Amino acid sequence: MKITRIAVHKVDLPLEHPYWLSGGRLKFEVLDATFVRIDTDSGLSGWGEGTPWGHTYVAAHGPGIRAGIETMAPFVLNLDPRMVLDVERAMDLALPGHLHAKAPVDMACWDIAGQAADMPISDLMGGGSRTPAPIASSVGAKTVEDTRDVMNRYRGRGYVAHSVKIGGDVDQDIARIRDVEAHRGQNEVILYDANRGWTRQQALRVMQATEDLRVMFEQPCETLDDIAAIRSLHSAPVSVDESLVTLQDATRIARDGVAEVFGIKLNRVGGLTKAARMRDVALAHGIDMFIMATGGSVLADAEALHLAATVPDAHRLAVWACQDMLAKDIAPGRGPRNRDGHLHLPESPGLGVHPDEAALGDPVAIYESS
Ligand code: MG
Repeated sequence: MKITRIAVHKVDLPLEHPYWLSGGRLKFEVLDATFVRIDTDSGLSGWGEGTPWGHTYVAAHGPGIRAGIETMAPFVLNLDPRMVLDVERAMDLALPGHLHAKAPVDMACWDIAGQAADMPISDLMGGGSRTPAPIASSVGAKTVEDTRDVMNRYRGRGYVAHSVKIGGDVDQDIARIRDVEAHRGQNEVILYDANRGWTRQQALRVMQATEDLRVMFEQPCETLDDIAAIRSLHSAPVSVDESLVTLQDATRIARDGVAEVFGIKLNRVGGLTKAARMRDVALAHGIDMFIMATGGSVLADAEALHLAATVPDAHRLAVWACQDMLAKDIAPGRGPRNRDGHLHLPESPGLGVHPDEAALGDPVAIYESS
């Protein structure tokens, strides 16, 4: 089987509500999504998606994905998409780094490999859990009262996992954490995500002031060095998200005890193939995982769900449904959807969901083998 054609679509995915990163930084309203269709000489086609969470979140943006695919396409055409490691190596040789541009190509290849094997991607990867995966809410409220209201709205829809965005004013953050913990439901997973919003001393002030609550924080500071530097000065469990980009980051975090949880976002780390290695590092070192799309449609959520299903249930804390934050659906009625705060693994071969091509418009680029 050979890749004969790569078609690239650019689609604006408007958010239902404007979004502010933790601490009120950096508002955005539209996600710049790239959808990739890979065709083969066998007649099978696969779909990939690359949708960064805005261009202000991490070093990734939509135009970079499309430019990266333009550079890599000549090296990917004519490869067998089922040989995902060959495709990965070709992309890494053609364009070192630029992981977010590689992820949608990797995803489309896994989609084809799954269809060719007549198996869902997670089963092809070795076995997918059918336990419904809890979806983490994204609570971007600012005050104590707003936070309580937003979380209760999510609870009303069945959510048992919450990512509460903090990382702004220290005293306000402490007050919000204390209030959330006072109203915590039984068996709820709650993560306090600072999105790099604090300096070291700000992080320490919050983490030390809430030590009695034994709550979990995500990405309290900008870098791994910062998070490592304060590690011995507080007792809270830490999840690393934005600073977990490469396999070397994963091994450093595990070896040096920088964090107890990985937040693996597939587009950021370069797709399923690379993310699966981080999963294995985590499992080898007793590190639990949040596994999520970086952003995007039901396709991106489905990809993350397949990887999450290969993690033993006890070590998978939650997934995400970014699709629920969008005002546009590019695959109406298809793929894994939020059911009572959980996503259920699709049983159809490959990714388990393809977009409605009419909703994508014409491709902005087509690369074909000669
Ligand atoms: Mg996060």
